[in-house]
Amino acid sequence: MECLFCKIAAGEIPAQRLYEDDLAIAFQDVNPQAPVHFLVIPRKHIATLHDLDEQADKSLAGHLLLVAQRLARQLGCDKGFRVVINSDALAGQTVFHLHLHVLGQRPLYWPPG
Ligand code: AMP
Ligand code: ZN
Repeated sequence: MECLFCKIAAGEIPAQRLYEDDLAIAFQDVNPQAPVHFLVIPRKHIATLHDLDEQADKSLAGHLLLVAQRLARQLGCDKGFRVVINSDALAGQTVFHLHLHVLGQRPLYWPPG
């Protein structure tokens, strides 16, 4: 298995896990860009947002967003937070296993640059 986040999902590489279930895992980003910065990933390997299957992954896609929402709330991001998916190299994706970044507890500006 080559993929870093598959290894985290399998427990082969440690991570500070915040949540897990049959479909998804959330863990702290190792290089946080805000006081709250965690990642939500599907357990199964999906490389980028392009690779989500319109039929097979429909409920998974919604589930990932709802995990992000619930944890953001639990971590006190009631005044605002940001969910980001960098999809492909031009957008800055460096780990090619789909992940939602959730950032909060500081002011965030737009556009992100
Ligand atoms: P992206 O650039 O959207 O692909 O984001 C990849 C993210 O994964 C970056 O924010 C990294 O800090 C984070 N990351 C890389 N390796 C690890 C790791 N071992 N544990 C937790 N987060 C990681
Ligand atoms: Zn993977």
